[in-house]
Amino acid sequence: MTLAHEVARRRTFAIISHPDAGKTTLTEKLLLFAGAIQIAGSVKARKASRHASSDWMEIEKQRGISVASSVMQIEYRDTVINLLDTPGHQDFSEDTYRVLTAVDAALMMIDAANGVEPQTIRLLQVCRARNTPIITFVNKMDREVREPLDLLSEIEGHLGMDAVPFSWPVGMGKSFGGVFDIRRDRMRVFRAGEDRLSHDDEIIEGIGNPEIARRFGAAFGQARGEIDLIEAAAPPFDAAAFLAGRQTPVFFGSAINNFGVQEVLDALVDMAPPPGSRHALQREVLPEEPRFSGVVFKVQANMDPAHRDRVAFVRVCSGRFERGMRLKVCRTGKEIRPNNVVSFLSQRRELLDEAYAGDVIGIPNHGVLQLGDVLTEGEVLQFTGLPFFAPELFQAVEVADPLRTKQLRTGLTQLGEEGAIQVFRPVAGGALLLGAVGQLQFEVVAHRLKTEYGVAARMMPSRYSMARWITADDPKDLKKFMDANAQHIAYDVVDAPAFLIGSSAQLRVAQELYPNVQFHALREHG
Ligand code: GDP
Repeated sequence: MTLAHEVARRRTFAIISHPDAGKTTLTEKLLLFAGAIQIAGSVKARKASRHASSDWMEIEKQRGISVASSVMQIEYRDTVINLLDTPGHQDFSEDTYRVLTAVDAALMMIDAANGVEPQTIRLLQVCRARNTPIITFVNKMDREVREPLDLLSEIEGHLGMDAVPFSWPVGMGKSFGGVFDIRRDRMRVFRAGEDRLSHDDEIIEGIGNPEIARRFGAAFGQARGEIDLIEAAAPPFDAAAFLAGRQTPVFFGSAINNFGVQEVLDALVDMAPPPGSRHALQREVLPEEPRFSGVVFKVQANMDPAHRDRVAFVRVCSGRFERGMRLKVCRTGKEIRPNNVVSFLSQRRELLDEAYAGDVIGIPNHGVLQLGDVLTEGEVLQFTGLPFFAPELFQAVEVADPLRTKQLRTGLTQLGEEGAIQVFRPVAGGALLLGAVGQLQFEVVAHRLKTEYGVAARMMPSRYSMARWITADDPKDLKKFMDANAQHIAYDVVDAPAFLIGSSAQLRVAQELYPNVQFHALREHG
């Protein structure tokens, strides 16, 4: 098969949703429908093991599990689908944001009873900023939920894009009759599903078919009225608008009942885009270029803390990856020759022989690879767009035993590079500051410092609650600002200066006094 063909048949996406909307269930059903598993239950079991001990101490053990489950690759209709998992816990949302930089499309899943929930909104902002195409799945129609028309306008409001229903529910909860496929003009009748696939779905052709009206009565009457309304009011589906992130196709269903899942899987194959080109500072990189390039979008500590092994997740951006190939780490100029690269095939962690643009490969290493690193066959490239978000929680960190200061620095540098936490070095000296977007990050870091680096760290409250990375067109302006505010300036792991403050009022004052300085809530790698 040619390189261009391999690229064209790839789809790389992530599911974004609020916890409990049904992401685990849908993931499992997608695997089931794609034939990657026979019986649903395995993903759920994995999640159960993840949640059974919500005790964060267990995170240690589970990291191994989540490495394997972070990427799933399935083949369906001659298409290679890479599904990237986004950590559900909101304290790890930074990680999630970065995963979204590695996908070409997103599947937004909402619980029909709850509509678009806060956590989904933040994730959507990342997709919107990148114009990532979004397919919407409204789940749990087998329950008493909100009116579909309301949901539709809420989706439009939050996404800031037109929602174009491809299917429409007939009834809900106890009277849920199924969904009407608007495009194909036929109804799929609901039947409570099992863990296995059944191949004898009942389909009734034609919206005018009297059988539908007879069997589904009032529910169908309402659905028909709504479909008429939508057809009159909603814009027609426009593939270009979808790919540009201006329209989202909407599907209704019930993941747990296997209902509506097939449509979503087909939509991914038929509508979601293959890997596109990527911006590097030097030039535009096309996916079907013969030479390999890839970017590290996630670093995860491996199972064995004693070895400080990490797995760098690399999204292939162009060319073909082959096991044993020599790769250059553009940041350092070092060469690596990964032999034991892992791929993620339908939940099994396997040795990988080759990969193409859109695929994700895992490279075990001892720290040569960092977030945002670019790997090539020799060319120097720097991809843009890996976001770091300004932390909202701060703690100062000190080591109980001063003789272990060096270990503390080493540990924090490595954890910072991994993206587990942000580490700031105040220019005025004193204790290092840790910045996080979620409280749990501090606990995990304290625990890992202890088990992996033998450091008992003392976390202390900090007076800061806000950080903004600072830049200025003229270095003199930046220096002036930094000198005047030295007590509030700190450097992060890549030596980018940040302004640390306790309130947004302080930020406003600074902005007024120093109009030539820019304050950024988001730092892009590179
Ligand atoms: P996640 O936290 O987003 O991964 O959500 P899960 O997949 O674990 O689902 C959360 C809960 O919703 C579980 O109890 C599921 O059984 C349930 N659930 C998922 N899909 C459906 C559905 O279509 N209908 C109903 N009634 N419950 C569902």
